[in-house]
Amino acid sequence: MKRWIGLVVVIAMGLGIMFWINKNGDANNSADKKNRMFDPDDLDAYANESQDSQFGADRVRSDAKPAPFDGKRAMKYLETICALGPRISGSASMRKQQALIKKHFEDLGARVTFQTFEAKQNSVKGKVEMTNIIISFQPEKKRRVILCSHYDTRPIADQETDPRDWRKPFVSANDGGSGVALLMELGHHMKDLKTSVGVDFVIFDGEEYIFETEGVRRDRYFIGSEYFAQSWRKSKDRCDYAAAILLDMIAGKDLKLPVEVHSYNDSPRLCKEVWDIAKEHHAKAFQWRRGHNVLDDHTELHKVGIPAIDIIDFDYPHWHRLSDTPANCSIDSMEQVARVLSVWLQRTK
Ligand SMILES: [Zn+2]
Repeated sequence: MKRWIGLVVVIAMGLGIMFWINKNGDANNSADKKNRMFDPDDLDAYANESQDSQFGADRVRSDAKPAPFDGKRAMKYLETICALGPRISGSASMRKQQALIKKHFEDLGARVTFQTFEAKQNSVKGKVEMTNIIISFQPEKKRRVILCSHYDTRPIADQETDPRDWRKPFVSANDGGSGVALLMELGHHMKDLKTSVGVDFVIFDGEEYIFETEGVRRDRYFIGSEYFAQSWRKSKDRCDYAAAILLDMIAGKDLKLPVEVHSYNDSPRLCKEVWDIAKEHHAKAFQWRRGHNVLDDHTELHKVGIPAIDIIDFDYPHWHRLSDTPANCSIDSMEQVARVLSVWLQRTK
């Protein structure tokens, strides 16, 4: 009997020690995770540990081939969009762009839905009409992913050094336009891509409806993506969004796409899946290192629980300048990003 009691005591102490080690181990782990963000060499480890990805890229189906994306045609779309001039929320040229996008994707057999609402900007009197465009492929599928971009342009080219240039016509080719042009071209290939998930291209309004200049933070940002995300969250028969990839400034020459910090903090595995595909398919613009810390439409999607990342070149030298024109964009850059996306779509479950 005594021996049994001794054994029980030994086992209990053993469990206690194990629990103590485990607890402290966990504490160290979370501290590590915080520090790791600042250690570009250690991006791999955290991404592998993380559970953010709800689907997991299917490593077995490595046979998925990139879509035969036509970069020249994508560039033509970009030029067509920019020829409309500035596309500020609520403007006549914005409405023209909406009609152009609707017709384009309907002709390709997609279901196009306008999500129209009224928005109020703090620094502007009155309300403005905004419209997110949702372009659905295989709309009957409940499990879906999002590729998204914004399509409005900023009323003020606020990075111009001379304030007299701020109000000149600003076409914002790479910032907004390039994502739309890429999706317009990718739309041609969607029916041939063997995807197990349904795909929504979501084009946000109200990302650039900002009238204040640097130093002032009174205006509301991400009005369109916030509206989209909150509407999805509240809808009773909502679909299941497994992931979202935001495209912002993906067409610059000498494109560099390091990993944006919020994307990595919130959805590291999704980052790893995308950047791994880029490596496999020699899309050299994608660089597995720490990039800028950018608040963008993806953070609104993440707030409602959708794993979401931003593919962004935040070192684009023409950002918010009059020189952000199609001439400063690159066919090759759009092709690289589309190559990665088209493989990712096919691998996603
Ligand atoms: Zn912008």
